[in-house]
Amino acid sequence: MPENMTDTYDVVINGASVAGCSAAILFARRGARVALLERRSSMSAHKVLCTHYIQASAHPVMTEIGLADALDGVGAIRNSADYWTKWGWIKPEARTGPGVLPHGYSVRRETLDPLLRRLAAETEGVDLKPGHTVGELLTEDGWVTGVAGTTAGGTFALRARLVVGADGKDSTVARLAGTPAEISENNRFSYFAYYRGITHPEGRTSARVYYLDPDNAYVMPNEDGVTVIAAVLSKQRLDDFKDDIEGAYLDLVRSLPEAPDIDNAERISKVIGTVNYPLISRRPTGTGYALIGDAALTSDPLSAVGCAWAMQSASWLVEAAAPALADDDRLSAALAAYARRHATETGPHQHLIADYATARPFNEIEAFMFEAAAKDSRMAEHFHVFGSRLMTVEDFMAPDMVARAEKVNGWSLSEEALRTLAEGAPGTPAQQHGHDDLLEGAAR
Ligand SMILES: Cc1cc2nc3c(=O)[nH]c(=O)nc-3n(C[C@H](O)[C@H](O)[C@H](O)COP(=O)(O)OP(=O)(O)OC[C@H]3O[C@@H](n4cnc5c(N)ncnc54)[C@H](O)[C@@H]3O)c2cc1C
Repeated sequence: MPENMTDTYDVVINGASVAGCSAAILFARRGARVALLERRSSMSAHKVLCTHYIQASAHPVMTEIGLADALDGVGAIRNSADYWTKWGWIKPEARTGPGVLPHGYSVRRETLDPLLRRLAAETEGVDLKPGHTVGELLTEDGWVTGVAGTTAGGTFALRARLVVGADGKDSTVARLAGTPAEISENNRFSYFAYYRGITHPEGRTSARVYYLDPDNAYVMPNEDGVTVIAAVLSKQRLDDFKDDIEGAYLDLVRSLPEAPDIDNAERISKVIGTVNYPLISRRPTGTGYALIGDAALTSDPLSAVGCAWAMQSASWLVEAAAPALADDDRLSAALAAYARRHATETGPHQHLIADYATARPFNEIEAFMFEAAAKDSRMAEHFHVFGSRLMTVEDFMAPDMVARAEKVNGWSLSEEALRTLAEGAPGTPAQQHGHDDLLEGAAR
């Protein structure tokens, strides 16, 4: 017999991780009464498969929800990165020095997730309900009106004006609602481990990202002197790892240019990884519900955009939907506006990310921009701001920056590449990644 059958909220959010906690805080701050459901019962539960480099694009949301201050308080690293390429290192801070360019944070999920969950639980208007697993959507006339599920002690059902799926890449809400999705292959696999005692060049705490073309690796310092080191490799190399994952991982890390000295550091974790991690774009709204974070868009882990977009998509949804919660027609229009915003903000970037996830070698335009960034500090800053997802694809390939790259490199793009740019570089709104199809019918 369901308990609390009569409980009604303005918003029910399924999933109390990065996206869900951010949305709960933001909705409640705007006066909504929010139920925040999480299947795991421990307040210290955290995601394990993540290397937790949070891009600078999420800084405004992190500040708004009080997370930036809290992260500074626990010693999270204000992040930046140097990038190794065959043309040399791209060093975005070469001109400005450390701490001037926009930053996000690097912080382990075992620190981040409980912190964020506590911030949500302490926000007036948020009812955090750990140990609640959603297994059913309640509907009336095709409109999602709530959720039902199980706890250790029985069952529950909650009604709400809006149901939000913040329940990750295998989203239960999306599955139950039959949300259309596009899946594209990720042709890389990844393994990573945590170390104490890795010394960083020049005593800086910049991450080091290796573009080994088509393989990748990164070395990222976090709070408490812990560094995560990841190898993200083309699946063509899976055979190297088949018999001895740990040995192959260690060999790969030792072989990196200016490799981190793992043999004089302490490894404090197993080698963790995933072999198959497809990219999933879902239509982010339907009748009476919305998806945020990985539930809406699971991108390539290599691009390290997941946590930032989880927080940002939460804020795009709240901005559109919070003022419209009292009225069905206004809510429909607000959900449609959120779906469009999601497509505009993520679509062009996601298009490029999905193309690069095929693990093909650099194309001509990438080689052109990477080479210029390695040779010129202004181009390096431009490259970094784009990678931090603070710049559109169009602005990244703006004519003045292409002209500067030409001058720095001493070579020009081919006619074919220029034609591609003129037609709309891959990923510009003209060629968005599947979003037009997914947007069709995004709200009634
Ligand atoms: C190998 C790897 C490395 C990565 N590295 C980075 C990185 O460096 N930087 C970065 O930004 N991103 C990275 N990511 C991506 C990042 O981990 C995700 O994008 C991010 O966790 C998405 O947050 P979310 O809140 O949307 O979903 P999740 O963090 O997946 O949370 C979903 C929540 O929903 C809960 N839930 C699910 N189903 C139910 C249900 N039925 N009932 C109740 N609760 C439910 C889950 O328990 C969980 O708490 C990486 C991913 C991988 C795989």
